[in-house]
Amino acid sequence: MTDTLEITPALPIPEFLVGEVRSKLAYVDETIRKAEVAISGNRITLHLEQAVDAALEAELTAKVQRVVTAMVKGAFKPKVQVLEDYLDRPVLYAEDPNTELLQRGEMHQETNGVYTLGPLVTRLMEYFEAQFLDLADSFGAPPYRFPTLIPAQYLQRVDYFRAFPHSLTFVTHLREDLDVIDSFSQHAACDEHGLNTAPDSFSKIQALLSPAVCYHLYFALADKPLPGGKLAATSVGNCFRYESSNLVSLERLWNFTMREVIFVGPKEYVLDNRETARNRMRDVFERIGLAYRVESANDPFFIGEFRKQAAFQSAFQLKYEIRARLPFKDSTLAVGSYNYHQDFFGRSLNITLEDGSPAHTGCVAFGLERMAYAFLAQFGFDVEQWPAEVRQAVKK
Ligand code: AMP
Ligand code: ZN
Repeated sequence: MTDTLEITPALPIPEFLVGEVRSKLAYVDETIRKAEVAISGNRITLHLEQAVDAALEAELTAKVQRVVTAMVKGAFKPKVQVLEDYLDRPVLYAEDPNTELLQRGEMHQETNGVYTLGPLVTRLMEYFEAQFLDLADSFGAPPYRFPTLIPAQYLQRVDYFRAFPHSLTFVTHLREDLDVIDSFSQHAACDEHGLNTAPDSFSKIQALLSPAVCYHLYFALADKPLPGGKLAATSVGNCFRYESSNLVSLERLWNFTMREVIFVGPKEYVLDNRETARNRMRDVFERIGLAYRVESANDPFFIGEFRKQAAFQSAFQLKYEIRARLPFKDSTLAVGSYNYHQDFFGRSLNITLEDGSPAHTGCVAFGLERMAYAFLAQFGFDVEQWPAEVRQAVKK
């Protein structure tokens, strides 16, 4: 019996895949509390919730090898294109902001990846919101409001279940059945794992918690010609991505807030606007003095889809990430992304241009909690030292 498992991967994991494989190992089995992959790619260490016998150990090992083989076999190192590099801008702070955030009551954990935030963080998020709204205005992009729930049918239509099954969050309710509802009202209780209710008390799943903002706009435009042949819009919303044991501090949340500026139209319209948005945001980040880099990236597709989809995204430069420096851990964190989906949504959802061809889409997406977090990690908590416009915004 052992509660720590050392595994030699069937194929050595190349360095550029180490982080990606590590984060996917969280989803391999519920007994895995934490997974580590040595930077050499030759050793995986699993820390388990409880000790397992030889049979379970063999089962776990086989599952881990499946992940490694699916992700590593035939993978090639993507060429990372760096579009902006301001990582060496001077910063004021080198501590872990989580300590101070907790001490000041600026952050309170409700459950894994779910936090309430205090006035300083909230005002910082509002400051960044104002910058993103200015960006939307510069394109004449009007505001939209989208729901927090998204129908299962919608996500199926854009193949989301195949690409990101691991991070979905499902919504249900009690079945319309007097006995079920009566029994629930009398017996429902939580233990450390959650509600004790039998799964057959719940309805079939019709809706999920939305994982992104822009999908709602594409569905509103589906199955018809795009009025005027092009469209810019903006919206902000709660987004949900279940990231299992990868959920740590404000860096990786189950429930977070995303502001998007969205473009729908001909290819050149979308690509030009994505580039213009990037240049306008470069000015904003320069004014503040943020240390960051913009580089090509890929989405965290699930194991079976990862190799193919990630290669496709990088080959066509479909995603660029804004990665802000986190001085305290000498690493970077994606605070936003510039995305181009080609005509994927136009084709899947039958959004047509005047000549009958499918519309292209793209979006610029910012994570508000991460923006505030990265700012605090670089500028610290002495507001007097902050750039003047940020200081004024939080000192209302
Ligand atoms: P993406 O659509 O994955 O490019 O996400 C856009 C932005 O949302 C990212 O750059 C992050 O700032 C933010 N974001 C994505 N996932 C999370 C998460 N799990 N926790 C907090 N912020 C996130
Ligand atoms: Zn989007």
